[in-house]
Amino acid sequence: MTDALDSITILVVDDERDIREGSARILSKMGCEVRTADRGETGLELLEEKPAALVLLDMKMPGMDGMEVLKLVRQNYPDTLVVVITGFATVETAIEAMKAGAYDFIPKPFEPDQLRIVVNRAWEKIRLSAEAERLAAERQRTLADLGTQKSRIHTILASLPSGTAVTDTNGQVVLMNPAFKRQLAIAADAALGKPIGEYISDQGLNDLIMDISRGRHIDYDDIPVYEFSMENNQYFMAAGRPVLGENNACLGAVISITDISTMKSLDQLKSEFVAKVSHELRSPLSTIHEQLAVVINGIVEVAPESDQQILSRAKEKTFGLISLISDLLDLSRIEEGAICRDIRSIPVVDLLTNIVDFLKARSDKKNQTLALEIDSKDIPEITADAIALESVFGNLITNAINYTPDGGSITVKVDMAGINIRVQVIDNGFGIEAKHLENIFDRFYRVKNEKTRFITGTGLGLPIVRELVSSMGGMVDVESTPGNGSTFTVLLPTTGQ
Ligand code: ADP
Repeated sequence: MTDALDSITILVVDDERDIREGSARILSKMGCEVRTADRGETGLELLEEKPAALVLLDMKMPGMDGMEVLKLVRQNYPDTLVVVITGFATVETAIEAMKAGAYDFIPKPFEPDQLRIVVNRAWEKIRLSAEAERLAAERQRTLADLGTQKSRIHTILASLPSGTAVTDTNGQVVLMNPAFKRQLAIAADAALGKPIGEYISDQGLNDLIMDISRGRHIDYDDIPVYEFSMENNQYFMAAGRPVLGENNACLGAVISITDISTMKSLDQLKSEFVAKVSHELRSPLSTIHEQLAVVINGIVEVAPESDQQILSRAKEKTFGLISLISDLLDLSRIEEGAICRDIRSIPVVDLLTNIVDFLKARSDKKNQTLALEIDSKDIPEITADAIALESVFGNLITNAINYTPDGGSITVKVDMAGINIRVQVIDNGFGIEAKHLENIFDRFYRVKNEKTRFITGTGLGLPIVRELVSSMGGMVDVESTPGNGSTFTVLLPTTGQ
């Protein structure tokens, strides 16, 4: 069958020259490519050289007659249409030819218009067949593509090293890959379709998946990752995303689980290492620090001022190192859970009064006012570790003193916010630019600018504060305006009585 349907190839087989040449002229004008043959045998040879979409075939010719040629064409070129030219306009010949597979007939003699009509009809049939064939091939291809895509996705999911599961809006599982089942100790042949809670035992993970499935996290940015552990010291991290359909409608959740056991044990090794090294360094450094103090005191009278300065600088540096080591040790202890062990009932106001009194010496040195304001008479005691609380407020108030210029003021304000005790450390110091605010609670993060350049610190104070406050079930936040000062707010839960 010809594909180029703007033009088709037509073979005219007729022993009458007038018919051959007349038809060739008309058909060429219609845009067809025309070849002619004066005998059936020649016609078949031409077809063998190059197939035609349509054959106009005279029924009565010398030599091989039309019916015989028709049968051979049908047999050898089933896609080629044959329109027979019947010299004797008898219905029988036409019917006989149609039975033998002719598509149409045209009685001889015919007018050019008659020929055009018959050929156009055949051409339309050829066009439709070509179109149907194209569509069938396309359908076949699409089906084949779909089939391979489906099995490809299935194969990829099955071979993913991280556990993957998909749930619908009710949290019912529609897909789980083998890694997911392995990681969460779900039977390999577990059937799909039940709520996620029936497959997993971790309540936090269940809650996260249910929340995402029900469309509570359409905004990707606020989806928390969730860490959990299984037996045999295996740690996993689960991250989920909603599956969004048209108009951002939530269709369910997709969850991916990564094994973080190695990372966890490395983390633990790192903490142990830091703790060990810090511990080993602390006593020799303290000794050096003390001895430097003795030497400096001893040479005040005799040594030149430049030597005294060198030694004072060395003393400052050793003090900086001792602070760093203490902070590192504190962090390790918090991570171990060792720092909040001595839990008892603490009167927060008394504790704050003591810290403020203790730090007053420092603020006085800078001519700063340091005041404690208690807004409510009914501040209850809280159940916590006193050393941890001292560390939280000691760090915040020391920072306020350090990052406020001489003559500034610092207020520690205590009141109740619902069932939480709210402690605010307010200063009118340098303040912190917005771009640094989200980082200052990161380990070793220090803001370096003209104002803070000469202030020594470790960048570990605020991380310690955050870890401790969150281990007490509270939270810490900061608001700050550069040039105007900062307010650090700590909320600590009470039992509500
Ligand atoms: P550091 O040992 O440097 O004080 P922190 O973790 O306590 O470490 O604080 C991190 C950084 O946050 C500080 O280096 C400082 O730039 C900034 N910062 C903390 N408290 C204040 C404050 N009250 N006013 C201005 N900047 C502060």
